[in-house]
Amino acid sequence: MGTWDYDVFWKETLNQLKSELSEQEYAMWFNMAYESSGEQAIVISVPSAFYRDQVKQRYQARIENKLYELSGQHIQVALEVKQRAKDDSHQAVSGSVPASKRTAHGRESEGKGAPAGPHAVSEHLAKADHPRPRDGHVQLRKDYIFENFVIGENNFFAANAAIAIAKNPGTAYNPCLIYGGVGLGKTHLMQAIGNLAWQEKGCKIIYITAENFTNEFVEAIKNSATQGFKNKYRNADMLLIDDIHFLQKKNETQEELFHTFNALYDANKQIIFTCDRPVSELKNLSERLRSRFERGLNVDLQPPSYETRCAILAKKVEARGVSIPPDVINLVARNISSNVRDLEASLTKLIAYAELTKKPVTLEIAQQQLRDNFGSPKQNNVTIETIQKVVAEYFSLSYTDLKGKKRTKAISFPRQLAMFIAREITEYSTTELGMEFGGRDHTTVMHGCQKIDERLKAEPSLDSTIQKLMKMIKDYNS
Ligand code: ADP
Ligand code: MG
Repeated sequence: MGTWDYDVFWKETLNQLKSELSEQEYAMWFNMAYESSGEQAIVISVPSAFYRDQVKQRYQARIENKLYELSGQHIQVALEVKQRAKDDSHQAVSGSVPASKRTAHGRESEGKGAPAGPHAVSEHLAKADHPRPRDGHVQLRKDYIFENFVIGENNFFAANAAIAIAKNPGTAYNPCLIYGGVGLGKTHLMQAIGNLAWQEKGCKIIYITAENFTNEFVEAIKNSATQGFKNKYRNADMLLIDDIHFLQKKNETQEELFHTFNALYDANKQIIFTCDRPVSELKNLSERLRSRFERGLNVDLQPPSYETRCAILAKKVEARGVSIPPDVINLVARNISSNVRDLEASLTKLIAYAELTKKPVTLEIAQQQLRDNFGSPKQNNVTIETIQKVVAEYFSLSYTDLKGKKRTKAISFPRQLAMFIAREITEYSTTELGMEFGGRDHTTVMHGCQKIDERLKAEPSLDSTIQKLMKMIKDYNS
């Protein structure tokens, strides 16, 4: 054992980080204490394993770089968990969430409270207490946390509502329904609420997909074990049910969920649902359950903008510890606009390529590797028939009705939507489209498209429905 003392470098490192990070971020993550020095190493204590892992992931490299700049030596930082860190001098910052004002359906809050650009959520996560040391919750993915969720204009309100719920479950936003198309982050956000409430408050959390909830219920009936089933769900402090669109037509499960809902709601327990569309578009759902879903807060997730897509990709690249040049990131963000899952898939492909070939990913290589992911911009392989079939099926109508002459409201709206989409993604003229929609005049098609345009302005959630339908149409033959 030599006499190593790196304490002064450590102090200066903290000083510098304090001036570089926001006050909240610093207060949240730098509640740590210098313990001892060894040969080119220092031991730092932190209050919990959660803390340790987070600090390791976010700051260790940065801290070690600073130590190197200051001392000229490669000093390694070892993080050690100590229930109570010695240095308690940091002022904790209370975790307030921007109180976004909001009217009925989501987008109105855009621009007012939203920060300038996409950002990670950590600024909002400062907390009054240390996170309690806890293992991960078995039903929740460890990486579905707020720190990994990029906030952009597309999810600003939903993400902030989610943080508020995690901090104060069962109070203001109960129940909460998060809806939006596939791959836009519904499950991630829902589990992030669960993870945070679990870590910070030790809430009893149950996460389950609506599908598994249904299966479990059916099993319970079969085994005459419904009482156990009821007890389990009614005992939760927070119930997270993912993908409730699955409950359409599942009448007995709907009934059971209705009672579970009431029991939890009356006991001020937090309930959160996700759905791939606004509840108003669900079919075969009991009215009383529908009204429960619509109660409380409904927030939507929209597809991310180009800027947000870049930010998401950059964050994932950083998390994977690989180097992908910015022009490649921009290329992917430009070409994949559907959802985050598709963005990730492209990135994974590039990373696999880099790892297997040990070659850097250039723009040319990316273009070549992702040809299939990008698809053809014109989409001229889409037929009107495909559009009609997909839209009809989505609204539980028959294909012939959608094409036909009937003019009830239940049919004319989907029909107009199909016309609108056809105008968007095919090269057909309004005259040709009129022919395909029951021999109508081209002015009828124009009128239909105009109607959808108007509704889009008044009802932004319709946009996500259209995006989703377009995706289903594109995927129809593949
Ligand atoms: P959904 O449940 O809406 O279909 P998921 O929550 O499964 O979507 O998200 C798909 C993938 O995209 C996940 O890997 C998730 O981590 C990622 N993702 C979605 N939104 C974001 C975001 N805003 N920032 C970072 N990753 C995101
Ligand atoms: Mg999901």
